[in-house]
Amino acid sequence: MRLVDSHSHLFLEEFDEDLPQVVERARQAGVSHIFMPNIDSTTIAPLLRVCEEYPGYCFPMIGLHPTSVNDNYEAELSVVKQQLLSNEHYVAVGEIGMDLYWDKTYEKQQRKALDVQLSLALEHDLPVVIHCREAFEEIFQVLEPYKNTHLRGIWHCFTGTKEEARRALAFSNFLLGINGVVTFKKSALPEVLRDIPLDRMVLETDAPYLAPVPHRGQRNETAFVKDTLLKLADILGELPEYVAETTSANALKMFGRES
Ligand SMILES: [Zn+2]
Repeated sequence: MRLVDSHSHLFLEEFDEDLPQVVERARQAGVSHIFMPNIDSTTIAPLLRVCEEYPGYCFPMIGLHPTSVNDNYEAELSVVKQQLLSNEHYVAVGEIGMDLYWDKTYEKQQRKALDVQLSLALEHDLPVVIHCREAFEEIFQVLEPYKNTHLRGIWHCFTGTKEEARRALAFSNFLLGINGVVTFKKSALPEVLRDIPLDRMVLETDAPYLAPVPHRGQRNETAFVKDTLLKLADILGELPEYVAETTSANALKMFGRES
């Protein structure tokens, strides 16, 4: 069975002590590719170091995460632009988006940063990976003008309603990223996902965050994508092998890694 982790931050310090074992467990679980979204200028070096250590297995994205948007965001965006020009290994612009859960202080700047990075993705013909927290409407306002472009991407950690899923998927080149949240006891997501075609979904972990049941509360790691797979297969009433194969193919196609 082949699995893909479309969203993992194995370059963060949570993995400093045991990254080789974490990657080995991912391989054992059947994971063939791990896609890694950047956070901000401070994480680029560790991100690239991990991807160089595991060539053909770990793939870097470049972007400015919305929770790292502050007074300094224009300088941060210049770094993203510079990286896109100087390194052809980036497979996506991510993660980008808006997060109004923790702090609304920089809402305007978050909007601007998202818009600039959507344009960059189009310019470089790369997919985007979108982070959305308490900001669905705001992100839609920024996305709307791109609706008839060839912009493509993933709504990472999708936890929205049926209506939000419908609106997100009205962008025909966008997929929903499904992670451990779907295994949480009170999650409303199973009900939402039942109506969504499997060819619009990819699996992810968001490691080290959001570990699925039965690891909830622990550090998350790529191997745990399997628990999310089993839950999703159960929700959809499909065989895990089929769900794994389809979602993996979706992710590889999105990131231009088709074999
Ligand atoms: Zn993330």
